Amino acid sequence: MTSLDPLADVPLPALPARESLCGLSADRIAGWLSEHNHPAYRASQLRQWIYGRRAESIDEMADLPASLREQLGDEFDLFTGRLARHQVAGDRTEKLLVELTDGKRVECVLMRETRRWTVCISTQVGCAMGCVFCASGLLGLDRNLSRPEILEQILRLTRRLEPDERLTNIVVMGIGEPLANLPALLGALEEVHAEDGLGLSPRRVTISTVGLPAGIRQLADVGRPYNLAVSLHAPNDELRNRLVPVNDRIGIAEILKAADDYFERTGRRVTYEYVLLAETNDQPRHARQLAALLADRNAHVNLIPMNNVKELNWNCPGEPQTQRFATILDEAGVATTVRKKKGADIDAACGQLRLENLGNDIPQPTETEAG
Ligand code: SAH
Repeated sequence: MTSLDPLADVPLPALPARESLCGLSADRIAGWLSEHNHPAYRASQLRQWIYGRRAESIDEMADLPASLREQLGDEFDLFTGRLARHQVAGDRTEKLLVELTDGKRVECVLMRETRRWTVCISTQVGCAMGCVFCASGLLGLDRNLSRPEILEQILRLTRRLEPDERLTNIVVMGIGEPLANLPALLGALEEVHAEDGLGLSPRRVTISTVGLPAGIRQLADVGRPYNLAVSLHAPNDELRNRLVPVNDRIGIAEILKAADDYFERTGRRVTYEYVLLAETNDQPRHARQLAALLADRNAHVNLIPMNNVKELNWNCPGEPQTQRFATILDEAGVATTVRKKKGADIDAACGQLRLENLGNDIPQPTETEAG
């Protein structure tokens, strides 16, 4: 949609303040059923429709009596958000722009690989961390997402799966800093882990952080074996302060200490993410310095060739520079992978789709199949 579109500046109507059925906890469902004189076993039927059977509407829940469906429909919507935009890439990566009840928008993504279906979810509207190469933080932080709003992203994406596909992994790498909104995230993940929820183990969930030591310790306290990914992006504080401004209040040493504790307490090997920015943090000396930091740690480095963000003047290095960087780490004995680009033909970098659609409304889901 172009800026010439007459609808572009028209604010959306306020959405009715109804609760989402998908966001109700098991306790709330049980309480509601008993208040409305329905037998307790309806709770498990309802949860089956929400989690296992991927219902698209309350009407579809055929084994619930019509009166119950009607009462539910009077009070709840399956989801409270609205699909503002839907993109499908040539590799069948799907990206949803979900509009929340207050008109704010967040992105979430479904990625398909052989026998692996991963969703990437957001935890905040915007972000306060200010990483200079990231689209999510360009306009600062708006607000935290609620537990139901986080869950809604996951459940909406499960509806995009074919009957023979299933959710196998969750990465919390969308918009926002997950450790700055940990209670809501953990609440949503409890439904992910529940036997009568999605039944997915914490070992299948990766939480990516800018590196907040107190948050990393809180996450370890939860006692679940989540995978932790730390967005390092630089091997020394001087460079990291430039790329990740919150670093000047934290420092790499404190982050590594918290991550080491995390590994000790959970037994989960920590991943360090490193976005490669041409001519900035991609030189052999940076790779050697990074190797020196991590060689004695049970760590894994995920090199991420930068996704270009049109508002920003940072570039992705060429393939040879990326390979050279990876080889130096490998030769120093640091386990290294280079992240594959998924959904390259849709707005793949976090926060890009939201940024492009701020103030725009595209009422119909659109499919862009690029070749
Ligand atoms: N706030 C968290 C999680 C969200 S970002 C964090 O910082 O980890 C998820 C990952 O995407 C981070 O490693 C982030 O630095 C990276 N990222 C942000 N912008 C990017 C871009 N333009 N290209 C590639 N990776 C990017």
